[in-house]
Amino acid sequence: MRPIRPGDRGPAVAEIRTVLTGLDLLPAGDGGDEFDAPTERAVRAFQQSRGLSVDGRVGAETWRALDAARWRLGARTLYHAVPEPLIGEDVRTLQERLLEMGYDAGRADAIYGIRTSRAVAQFQREMGLKPDGTCGPHTMNTLRRLGRKVVGGRPQWLRESDAIRQAGPTLVGRTVVIDPGHGGTDPGEVVPDGPLRWTEADIVYDLASRLEGRLAAAGVRVHLTRGPTPGACLPDGDRAQLANSLGADVFISLHTDGHANPAADGVATYHYGTDNGVTSATGERLAGLVQREIVARTGLRDCRTHAKAWELLRLTKMPAVRVEVGYLTSPADRGRLVDPRFRDRVVEAIVAAVQRMYFPIERDVPTGSIDVSELRAIVAAGTVVD
Ligand SMILES: [Zn+2]
Repeated sequence: MRPIRPGDRGPAVAEIRTVLTGLDLLPAGDGGDEFDAPTERAVRAFQQSRGLSVDGRVGAETWRALDAARWRLGARTLYHAVPEPLIGEDVRTLQERLLEMGYDAGRADAIYGIRTSRAVAQFQREMGLKPDGTCGPHTMNTLRRLGRKVVGGRPQWLRESDAIRQAGPTLVGRTVVIDPGHGGTDPGEVVPDGPLRWTEADIVYDLASRLEGRLAAAGVRVHLTRGPTPGACLPDGDRAQLANSLGADVFISLHTDGHANPAADGVATYHYGTDNGVTSATGERLAGLVQREIVARTGLRDCRTHAKAWELLRLTKMPAVRVEVGYLTSPADRGRLVDPRFRDRVVEAIVAAVQRMYFPIERDVPTGSIDVSELRAIVAAGTVVD
């Protein structure tokens, strides 16, 4: 097709102008059919916003994008069509809405693919609708109703930060759920060699019970998601639900990592977030504190914090992190992890991080400076270490 370009006139130009007007890129309706200078500017702005090459003409690609841009959310039922997926501005709006609320719809690319369909099904499940992944009038209404109440992020995150701000710095009476990963028939990473045959499930359980002791001593109510030898491995979604039902203030999942390359080592911490920059602000803060305290107190390599949309992090309604404390497949990390004194340092780091989470930012203290054995006294005295 020959591109439609500045200077052209006719019904095709009129149609292009109608779409651009609908997108607020052209002033409302004189109904003209001329590709004039304002139309060209509008086409360029449109192309830029869609990541198309910006030439101010309407070729096949820009035409398809304009065609997709006509659709307004609610004007048609959206579903995962195979092999030709539905494309349109309504899909993009839906994806942005889902991402804003914390559902992993992938990128807001205006294509109703499998990931968008799964995100819709998840939303439907949590809203008590039939989780069929199809966005019809019912789901649309629920979104719309929510839309007026929920602006700028998943409501629970707003509640999260608020609750923390209001609660003050004491740990006494808070509920922390500790989640030792794997267990039962699932040992996690296994390292068969060496005098001590540790599995990931064993190591993280040991870490969890040490952490339980330290936090309990600081006045925290602590729950573990599993015992040392559970009959079966609890799925991540169930672990999250357990933490929700206990009304946990903080959720900490403990794992060790593994890699085919024995040179891979270090600690990494994960919090909820998506590629699009949607993130749990309090989860991110907790992850940063845990990561920095562990690196400072143990010398493990800093593999940084990362946003992930894993079920465990997405379904939990409180600040939640997953820590991968070293690589069992790394001889260096493994040598440290089998040392109980090293595990105590990891645990102290996590306790310090949880405590700092409740300090107002302006009263926060340097990493590595909290003596966790004196937490109770510090808090009772109402002072913060410098
Ligand atoms: Zn694991």
